[in-house]
Amino acid sequence: MPIATVNPANGETLKTFDAIGEEETERRIATAYATSRTYRTTEFAERAALLEKAADLLDADRDAIARTMTLEMGKPLAAARAEAAKCAKAMRWYAANAERLLADEHPADDDVRDSGATRARVHYRPLGVVLAVMPWNFPLWQVVRFAAPALMAGNVGLLKHASNVPQTALYLGDLFRRAGFPAGAFQTLLIGSGAVEAVLRDDRVAAATLTGSEPAGRSVAATAGDTVKKTVLELGGSDPYLVMPSADVERAAKTAVTARVQNNGQSCIAAKRFIVHTDVYDAFAERFTAAMDALTVGDPLQEATDVGPLSTEQGRADLEELVDDALGRGAEALCGGGRPRGLGGELEQGWFYAPTVLAGITPQMRIHREETFGPVATLYRVSGLEEALEIANDTPFGLSSNVWTRDPDEMEACVRDLEAGGVFFNGMTASHPALPFGGVKRSGYGRELAGHGIREFCNATTVWYGPTGDDGA
Ligand code: NAP
Repeated sequence: MPIATVNPANGETLKTFDAIGEEETERRIATAYATSRTYRTTEFAERAALLEKAADLLDADRDAIARTMTLEMGKPLAAARAEAAKCAKAMRWYAANAERLLADEHPADDDVRDSGATRARVHYRPLGVVLAVMPWNFPLWQVVRFAAPALMAGNVGLLKHASNVPQTALYLGDLFRRAGFPAGAFQTLLIGSGAVEAVLRDDRVAAATLTGSEPAGRSVAATAGDTVKKTVLELGGSDPYLVMPSADVERAAKTAVTARVQNNGQSCIAAKRFIVHTDVYDAFAERFTAAMDALTVGDPLQEATDVGPLSTEQGRADLEELVDDALGRGAEALCGGGRPRGLGGELEQGWFYAPTVLAGITPQMRIHREETFGPVATLYRVSGLEEALEIANDTPFGLSSNVWTRDPDEMEACVRDLEAGGVFFNGMTASHPALPFGGVKRSGYGRELAGHGIREFCNATTVWYGPTGDDGA
């Protein structure tokens, strides 16, 4: 894939970049490694001050970087601004909380004595250089939610960003440098995916985190397995959205629209499969379909736009295949089902897809088990919670889940039985610095954010003090 900014709203190539070569990659790994040896000894307060400075710079740059993101991958401008603001907030959260999250842990006194020690503790130390392979869909947020905890823990980062967001990638490297972090603390590597393996095999690189598709995750995890390196994988999702009879159907339908089309439908934690109890199915389907159909599709730089283009032509082709397969096997399009008509002008060359609701889904359709990365929802009618949970879990993915109910017994059954990294009741899944984020099954492993995320790339060191014998102990 060429490293280039191509505006998905009209297909125009705005800027192209050459990948850095092997020599430059080597130089940057060496810089990262040398920096990691000293940066690991800095105090939390020093790191926090640098990260807060980065947050201030990002706030000041918000409008400009939002526009860059929109031009590179097509998200509506307001969403891009909100993403930048969220990143600054997460930086400040980790600046304020990292020391507490990584404080020494002390095993119980009885257990310490039983082990023969006079005292013991668990001390968190950084691993060193961490390679981050990141996707284009939240080009700032995906990187910051790795970088903020990693830098606060005393690690250093090498970023291989998606090839279609090079300007955002370069901005990030520059942001941390301008904030005053040492030169090797966070560097962007403009490299293709084919160059990732060599970087990860390098002995100076300690670990890797990847957010992206399953094939990319498999490839990076295979190399990491071969070299025995720690990885965190955040992969795809096909999150269920259950609506039970006790739900506030009006609110459930309204929230469902945002949950499905946020980021033009290209979010791993977007609700994708809407599983609705028959008692409220008609009321939900009618409201949901009407609201999906009423969305404004168009130029993401215009404030009135709800849904912009898909980020790549290939992404739209993949989505079209899934929908066409379902329609060919008997699914019914309650709205959409193809490209939007009448966009006019240069937008006719953009990679748009109409907000779509499909009913009558059967397990024979690819869309039943594959991820839809675009504004396409599938609707299922069920007669009870058991059937709803069966469909919800009938997927290779297990990222998050959403359930609308007021019934405490149903809530507990969902917490117990949904195969997912999260269960969100009466709302939609959203990431937050204080809440762990990640999946099970083919959605990956490990966690980002909160204390779980910052400890992923730490060496939890057992420190055991035996009796010195000086005092006869
Ligand atoms: P992708 O093709 O896997 O790309 C993600 C990153 O991996 C890019 O930097 C890409 O580089 C790189 N890459 C691709 N193949 C690779 C390989 N064989 N070895 C090493 N690196 C490789 O994914 P995408 O299409 O950009 O993103 C969409 C997917 O990401 C969806 O499945 C979505 O659900 C998932 N996602 C998950 C989360 C989460 O938190 N769980 C969040 C966002 C997105 P190039 O661009 O150079 O190919």
